[in-house]
Amino acid sequence: MARVYLTHFHPDHVFGNQGFDAGKITAPEGVITGLKDLGNSFSDAMYYIARDWMRGTEVVLPSTAVIEGIEDIGGRRLRLMPRAGHTSSDLAIYDEISGLLIAGDLAFLDRAPTTPHADIATWTTTLGELNSIDCNRLVPGHGPAETGKRAIAQTRDWLLAIRDVIERCFNEGLDMTEAMAAPLPAGLQQIALARYEFTRSVMHLYPKLESAKLPSVGGREK
Ligand SMILES: [Zn+2]
Repeated sequence: MARVYLTHFHPDHVFGNQGFDAGKITAPEGVITGLKDLGNSFSDAMYYIARDWMRGTEVVLPSTAVIEGIEDIGGRRLRLMPRAGHTSSDLAIYDEISGLLIAGDLAFLDRAPTTPHADIATWTTTLGELNSIDCNRLVPGHGPAETGKRAIAQTRDWLLAIRDVIERCFNEGLDMTEAMAAPLPAGLQQIALARYEFTRSVMHLYPKLESAKLPSVGGREK
């Protein structure tokens, strides 16, 4: 095993890394910071959910930080692209010899994207950049590997659609519960966990809209 890259700090993408040589684990600086800040609370939450299945699982911090550029390792020539959008720090990797693009959770395919740490504007910008890469195979963070770039288009379509629906609900004065019941565009309803993730996204994005657009009360001047 030559190297382990952590694409972002979400628990389903980092826990279990202790199975590898700690000296070979690497991630962008923002992922390391995110793990320092959030890793133990992710671990607590996972113990609460998974109980004994989590026994012995610990947060292992990467020993080195990824920087933008090419890494020749393990017979591969990897273009390392620290970006952001799905979280504050995401890593995409392009294998320049095989044409394989590993998108991490910057791309989902046939499974609704998750947004607890997302910045949708940044995310769609990053997707535009990934879309310009001439890959011949793409591995999304969730969903099957594919020979096209459907994951990039579907993730972008989903993000733009839910942003529009949520903002429209907010501007119409609907509360969060009402917004959660809003219809999704027909083409997106069939994606796995569409309603579940849309509901979660309302919970993530409504408070941001409220703090950005509602006047403060109670004597706190902006
Ligand atoms: Zn994630």
